[in-house]
Amino acid sequence: MKPLVIPIFISHQGCRHRCIFCDQYTITGNARVESEPVTPEAVQTTIRLWLQRPRKEKKQRVQVAFYGGSFTGLPQQRQRELLESVNPFIRNKEVDFIRISTRPDYIDETIAGFLKEHSVSIVELGIQSLHQDVLDASIRGHSVLQAQEAIKLLKGKGFIVGAQLMCGLPADNCARVMATARKTAELEPDFVRIYPVLVIKGSGLEKLYRDRKYKPLSLAGAVALSCRMKAVFDEQNIRVVRLGLQSSAELAEKVVAGPYHPAFGELVIARNLYKKTRKILQSEQGRQGKYLHIAAADESAFRGPDNTNIKRLTVLGLLENVEVVFNKDQARNTVLVC
Ligand code: SF4
Repeated sequence: MKPLVIPIFISHQGCRHRCIFCDQYTITGNARVESEPVTPEAVQTTIRLWLQRPRKEKKQRVQVAFYGGSFTGLPQQRQRELLESVNPFIRNKEVDFIRISTRPDYIDETIAGFLKEHSVSIVELGIQSLHQDVLDASIRGHSVLQAQEAIKLLKGKGFIVGAQLMCGLPADNCARVMATARKTAELEPDFVRIYPVLVIKGSGLEKLYRDRKYKPLSLAGAVALSCRMKAVFDEQNIRVVRLGLQSSAELAEKVVAGPYHPAFGELVIARNLYKKTRKILQSEQGRQGKYLHIAAADESAFRGPDNTNIKRLTVLGLLENVEVVFNKDQARNTVLVC
């Protein structure tokens, strides 16, 4: 069951410089935050409001997530105030987890110890790439080694660790993206988010794009690459919890170029299912009277947008003499033939 996530936006707070692709005010849809940094009182009010909302399941775990900035780059006193504002809810067992996002170079032994003391259990790191040229071209300001060490350190201290990766950054290419995915998987983060780069109005990347020094991925290219990245993590049983930025009217309005789609994740899941189905049906070609079993929850992904997957499989002749069965009890993202 997915946890109830209570978002607290700290857009760009703690960031000592601006990465070339980033504009958190647009990404989080929170334009106000720069002038009005969230107070501990406001954090508590937000948590109370969310806890009052009716929940589908009483047992649903609750997570308070500080989003959109570099939490451990904030002055320690401010970090303490914000975390201590959540701690009473942890003690009352109304909130189960505190999650923060930060940069790899803002993590060390002391910081990890401080987070532990203040009941933080989930840390998301903006890894983006594990190729130094890509990090440098994206003005990330940290090294590949720092990213790898930060994941190892946090894992070693018992945190649940998330890694945010991007594809389509300046100086990036398919080989670098796939190498990043494989190296990240070797570090065994608990979950991953994959974000294809969008050119957002007001970001440094917009200037590069307008000067014709940066070419974004096409939508089809981003879907294919994200699908290949996801397969690396699927193979290692590492959950990919997000594919593409959360869509919003504000984001759609501010995207200047790049592979934006309001349901990007579904496009990737549909492609993934298509590739799995094609592979399994090709290996079974020649066998008569087959039943293809798909999870009922995957029906629309199996069909693909505008039935594209069905049309492709039909053109390849792979659906001849095949009856497709959608099973309620089947695990998602599985394809079986019998
Ligand atoms: S990507 Fe992260 S570190 Fe860079 S500017 Fe955005 S929020 Fe700050």
